[in-house]
Amino acid sequence: MKPAPFEYRRPGTLADAVAALAGGPDTKVLAGGQSLVPLLSMRLASPRVLVDINAIAGLDTIEVEGEDGGVRVGALARHAAVLASADVRRVQPLVPLALAHVAHATIRNRGTTVGSIVHADAAAEMPVVLAVLGGSVDAVGPSGRRTIAAADLFLGPLESSLAHDEIAVSAYFPALAPGAGVAFDEIARRHGDYALVGAAALVDGESVKVGYLSVGDVPTVVDLSGVAEADLGEAALAHLEPGDDIHATADYRAQLVRILTGRVVRSAREMAESK
Ligand code: FAD
Repeated sequence: MKPAPFEYRRPGTLADAVAALAGGPDTKVLAGGQSLVPLLSMRLASPRVLVDINAIAGLDTIEVEGEDGGVRVGALARHAAVLASADVRRVQPLVPLALAHVAHATIRNRGTTVGSIVHADAAAEMPVVLAVLGGSVDAVGPSGRRTIAAADLFLGPLESSLAHDEIAVSAYFPALAPGAGVAFDEIARRHGDYALVGAAALVDGESVKVGYLSVGDVPTVVDLSGVAEADLGEAALAHLEPGDDIHATADYRAQLVRILTGRVVRSAREMAESK
């Protein structure tokens, strides 16, 4: 199938891009196109206007903020560049640990980390990473710039709180605190496939948080502080509702939650203790 006809715009500045989006709700931002173009081709999305942000200078940055600051990833930073960044690896190792599971190299060369986050797919890795770390997204729209905390970003399946006329300009991943540890793991049928279930852990002293992908409509973070190691899986399941689909039954997903929760919490503790 081919996409329905659309008007294509490629503005050179952020201000022009915001103006181009102001035409109404049937406008769409095009970043890496790795999710949007398949949706267009299948006619699951048929925007009237496509606003390609790839010609806007200065959106491909990856920067560490301040001395104890986290890392800010610009809207045109490709997954591959973020994965290869020594700064990102040093400041927040959970980002590359999870990015290594995102699709295949060719898709990571084009797809953007910010696009993946605002696409808000509950089966994607980077929304969960942002959620478990308590990160945020900066967006620019007709009324200026605002910061959206990860906790307020994910509303439903493929639905974020970004307005139709806003452009996400960056995502901010807080730094890993000294003495803290992180881990990521997932089970997929084949390498590069979307995960049947995935889990990202952040252990900081007594605080234990685990975020889950492909278990529910939005990335879900569960606080497992104070839970004994043997009870982690069941404690997590008390907050989750794994679902059935053509890829896995709810029971199988629940079993993956049990296995992965123990695994990522143990690995995150090992990282914390090794520092
Ligand atoms: P686009 O496709 O350009 O856009 C996606 C959506 O986000 C659109 O609605 C668009 O309007 C919006 N958008 C994008 N950027 C912005 C912005 N800056 N401001 C406002 N709105 C914006 N992803 C995973 O996480 N895990 C996987 O295992 C995985 N496997 C894949 C396998 C295949 C075969 C393919 C084709 C893709 C896969 N992906 C996977 C998706 C990939 O990571 C995409 O790159 C990513 O989801 C979207 O990023 P993008 O830059 O390509 O966004």
